Amino acid sequence: MKIGISACLTGDKVRYDGTDKRNSELLKILKEHELIKICPEMTAGFPVPRESLEIRNGRVYSSSDEDITKKLNEGAHKCLKMIQDCDFVVLKEKSPSCGVHLIYDGTFSGKPIEGHGLFTRLCLENGIPVYSENDIEEIKRKTAGT
Ligand code: SF4
Repeated sequence: MKIGISACLTGDKVRYDGTDKRNSELLKILKEHELIKICPEMTAGFPVPRESLEIRNGRVYSSSDEDITKKLNEGAHKCLKMIQDCDFVVLKEKSPSCGVHLIYDGTFSGKPIEGHGLFTRLCLENGIPVYSENDIEEIKRKTAGT
């Protein structure tokens, strides 16, 4: 299978604070498959490190309150082209770009709420199945073809 994956989940240090979120369990499950790494925020041209971003009222803001929705949307659309023939994607939960079930509430106080990141929403609108790193059982079933 061809699977899109948030680059930070593979160990790339592309998060806003220069860290990664390597997930060994996930990578073990996916090791026989072709992985296409994407990072919508890096593709949008944001540096590492960068300000943290959160979604508020459907727009994306930096921690200094700059509306960066347009710039991030451009990165998301470029990433969509990279993964549009993938069987599914696995994205990093709670990110304003990649969050699958949860995002932060836009107040920069660390409070998660239900919602999709901007890139996740774009994938779903284009019919691409999306899982988070926490959907391990579903990913196992999907890769086993059951
Ligand atoms: S935008 Fe996505 S891939 Fe990039 S660091 Fe954030 S969660 Fe990871």
